[in-house]
Amino acid sequence: MGMTTSHFKMDAKELFQILEPIKIGGSVCRYSPKKCQELVPFVNEILDLKREKKAVILAHSYVSPDIIYSVADYTGDSYKLSLDAKKTDAETIIFVAVRFMAETAKILNPSKRVFVGSDFNGCSLADSISASKLKDLKKQYPNHTFVCYINTTAEVKALCDVCVTSSNVYQIVQDIDNDKIFFLPDKLMGMNLIEEMKRRGVKKDIVYYDEGMCYVHEEYDPDMIDYLRMEYEGLKVLSHPECTKEVIARSDFVGSTEKLLNYAKENGKGNYLMLTECGLLDRVSREVPEAVLVGSCRFCKYMKSNGLLKLRDVLRDLPSHLEIKLDETLREKAITSIENMFELAKK
Ligand code: 13P
Ligand code: SF4
Repeated sequence: MGMTTSHFKMDAKELFQILEPIKIGGSVCRYSPKKCQELVPFVNEILDLKREKKAVILAHSYVSPDIIYSVADYTGDSYKLSLDAKKTDAETIIFVAVRFMAETAKILNPSKRVFVGSDFNGCSLADSISASKLKDLKKQYPNHTFVCYINTTAEVKALCDVCVTSSNVYQIVQDIDNDKIFFLPDKLMGMNLIEEMKRRGVKKDIVYYDEGMCYVHEEYDPDMIDYLRMEYEGLKVLSHPECTKEVIARSDFVGSTEKLLNYAKENGKGNYLMLTECGLLDRVSREVPEAVLVGSCRFCKYMKSNGLLKLRDVLRDLPSHLEIKLDETLREKAITSIENMFELAKK
């Protein structure tokens, strides 16, 4: 974002000016001057602690806007944040998101201390598959290239050939030099991948793990799209590839959270239905004020368990239960699939 790193101190008025346009959760509530008065001492403590501890804060776009716009050094989707984690020279990384993202940062930065911002840091996709289940699947499909979504644990990444994110999954699978692909753990993204390869005329034999889904994105209803299109002429429907294929088929644009945000920035004025987590709508309402957001959005309970107060505590105490520690052999195995992703994403 760049908006925050130059700040040494903030006052409540300045914080309110930044946050005032944001309607949390689409239209649920707004930041008030009083709320900003309450938040600003934490903001300033965090800014001081960052300098003292030589730390950087990486924050996924789904976390609350007060973190994104006041203290985060890097913000974005999982792909962008993994590149940011790779380039930082800070001694300590605080990842305000969920565990698999902080683990990815640790895999890429073994000599740095990496902490996750909350202890409620799961993900319904990352939690859906274990290394032992995956070992069995690899025995059943010995000739397939195993492609894992970044929403997986380090143990699972260590057993896969290539990692992907929502920003590069289609292109990477298309470019993999094997017709046989096993995709995991998102069943809905696996189905979308098959449809997209058909649409591109790419022949691939894709098998997917059918027990994982994102509990936030699976709920979006395709009928709601039809209904809202009748209500709002010229409605732009933007969805995340973790949604169902019925939702994807009715969407005008499908992409990672960063790509959805960029689409809104490029297209500006108009009515938008954004089928992803509410945090991204908060970013659009702050950064693309001319966009009108319609419909409703859903919260991810894991991402939303992060907050300014907890972040202050993590930075101050650097608690060992939130520090990511990985066995070196495991880390070396897991990094291969991530490096393969960086390589294939460059093409
Ligand atoms: P992005 O990489 O698109 O930000 O997606 C991460 C995620 O967890 C979506 O639910
Ligand atoms: Fe996981 Fe879904 Fe939350 Fe993303 S929104 S972190 S995929 S549970």
